[in-house]
Order: sequence, then structure tokens, then C-alpha cells
Amino acid sequence: MPHAVSAVPEPPATPSVGRVYNFSAGPAAMPESVLGQLREEMFDLFGTGIGLLEQSHRGAAYDRLLAEAFQAVDACSGLGDEWATLFLPGGSMQQFSLMAMNFVPKDGWVAFADTGLWAHKGEHETSCVRRVRKAFDGTACRYDHVPADGEISDCSGAAYLSYCSNNTVEGTQFARPPRVAAPLFCDATSDIFSREYDLAAHDLVFASGQKNLGASGITMVLVRRSLLERADRSLPPMLSYAHFARTESRPNTPPTFGVRVIGLMAKWIADHGGPAAFGPRNRAKAAHIYASIDRSGGFYRPSMRADCRSDMSISFQLPSDALVDRFVAESEREGLCGLRGHREWGGIRACVYNAFPAKGCELLATFMDEFARRNG
Ligand SMILES: *Cc1c(COP(=O)(O)O)cnc(C)c1O
Repeated sequence: MPHAVSAVPEPPATPSVGRVYNFSAGPAAMPESVLGQLREEMFDLFGTGIGLLEQSHRGAAYDRLLAEAFQAVDACSGLGDEWATLFLPGGSMQQFSLMAMNFVPKDGWVAFADTGLWAHKGEHETSCVRRVRKAFDGTACRYDHVPADGEISDCSGAAYLSYCSNNTVEGTQFARPPRVAAPLFCDATSDIFSREYDLAAHDLVFASGQKNLGASGITMVLVRRSLLERADRSLPPMLSYAHFARTESRPNTPPTFGVRVIGLMAKWIADHGGPAAFGPRNRAKAAHIYASIDRSGGFYRPSMRADCRSDMSISFQLPSDALVDRFVAESEREGLCGLRGHREWGGIRACVYNAFPAKGCELLATFMDEFARRNG
């Protein structure tokens, strides 16, 4: 008899009646089972008779909620005891100055891989508090690819190299973490837990909530404890990662709702096979859309090199702005929503994070084929 294959449930392929395919870059589509659980917990968490938003962050229910969140994140990250998980109020963009204040001496510097709009903004945030040097300048190639190791200039002496694993606006993604002679810090906001990825190659990885983790206004930080021990101790505690680690991310009143959402999202990912199972699913989802781009005979114009295509954010231009408007209006009528590209990049962008239902990618590809035929 063949060995039984352990049954990992597949995420639902379609949204339920009354909901649409939401391609939004963020806040983005969430699993309906998580939304349903949140709806119930809003009224009564764990049978306490007290709703999720009404629970004291010092009470037993929150202790349990927090333990569940740490456990679910650990199950997804696979990182061991040498790592701390922090939940911080505020978004990803806030981490750039915080990281520099915590981990860069006053006379030190940060190496930056400028691979897209978010990395570029992050570099600016960092430069407001510490010196930065570009280790890769993607503006020269209009962000059409992410660098191979050989394209990153020498980082030795840098406090760390900061890079972005998935460039949400431009639609490029690192296949694996860069190998450099400096500690590695990663903005994984738009592809955390979406595939097998060597998180342990890093010293710090962060992702704000609104993409693969659910709620906006909160950021999850995974950081090596050894790094926390070397952090600047003179910072105000509320700006100190070490202080958040010491206090289980509740030095003051934490964003309790966001912590619950991250916990439930991470559990949902783990229950559906974890990042390793989502990698091939996300690859297959994105492949439908790239196939339509490739057979359009140049009608759809991706700006990224084919070998750097992202499985999370698929970005392309159309022959004119008028066609972009028509594409957005017509796709919306078919229940394919949120496809307009970033306001600073234009074109069309389909974000298909873990929770985005697979069938929507097939429907978008079919729509794209027909749209190109009618307008090409
Ligand atoms: C969305 C996004 C951000 C911005 O996150 P905020 O939480 O809004 O600060 C930063 N980096 C990447 C890669 C993103 O996709």
C-alpha cells in the first residue's frame, strides 16, 4: 500500500457569494475563515464574555492570545530560540529609522540595495538618522531587476545591508537572500511566509500587517537575540527593540487587535502547509497572469526582467493611460477589483498574496486575453 500523504487542506479557490476578487496591494484580501473567526471573537473572546477589543492586555485571555500568536509565527518562520518575535505599533516604514537608531553606531553606516520605490523611501528614512551608502542603485536600470550578488558593492564595514525581498510596486522579487559581508536586514512586508525562504540567513526581518499578515498599523519584527544584546541602550524605551523583546511587545498598551490578526493569519498559513506549501501555490497562481502577458504579443508590457518576476505582485503597463482606465473599469465589472497600479508607477498591478483565491488568477488571465484581443 502506498504511504498515506498527510492531508494539507487547500485554501478556498473562490470568494463566497457577495465578495469579489480583491487584487489590492494592501490592505489586502484576507482568508474568509479568519474574518469569520474575528467576527465572533469581536463579541466574545475565548468564552470570557468579553470581546477581543475589550480585553485587558494584562489579562489571562490576552496572555493566551499572545502565546498563540508567537507559536503560530514560530511555526511559519521555523526560527529557533535565538530569535525574538516583536509586534510593534506602526508600519514598515517606521522600521528604517528604528533599525538605524538601535543597531548603527553614530559614526557607522548602512548599506542599501535600492531596488524599488519602498526600498528607496526606506533609504531616505534611514538617511535621516545615520549615514547610508548605496550598495546597488536600481534607478539606473529603472528597477527592472534585483541584483545578483556580484552586482552588490562591498558591504564590509556596514552595520548591515538593508534590502527588500519583494518590490511590491515594480513586481520584482529576490529568489534567495543576497550573500554579502555584512549582517542582512530584510523588508519582507509583501512576501513574508509566501514561500520557502532562508530567513536564518538574516539578522532581522520585518513585515507590516496589511499584506500577508492581515491588519495594517502593526509590524512584526523577527530579530536575532544576539543583535538585541548589542543594541543602543540609551534610546527612549519606546523606540528600543530590546525593550519590546523584554516586555513581550507590551511595554504599554499594544495594538491588541493587530496582534490577534497576525496570530490568526500565521496559524491559517501553518494550517495550510506553511510557507513551503504556499510557494508552489503562489507560483502557479502568478503563472496564469504571466502566461497571458507573454502571449499578448507586447500589448502587456512588464517593466521587469523575466528572471526577477514576483509571484506576489504582478505589474505591467498598457499602451496608453486611456487603456489603463478602460482595463480597470471593465475588470471591475467582472468582479476583478483593485487592479490599478501604484500611483507613482502607473499601469496595472495584481497583488496575489497567500490569501488571494487561486481562481481569480485564472479569471484575470482570461479577461486579459480578451481585453488584448479587443484593444490590441
Ligand atoms: C507596503 C509596503 C511597505 C509600507 O508599509 P507601511 O506599513 O505602510 O509602512 C513597505 N515595504 C514594502 C515592501 C511594502 O510592500
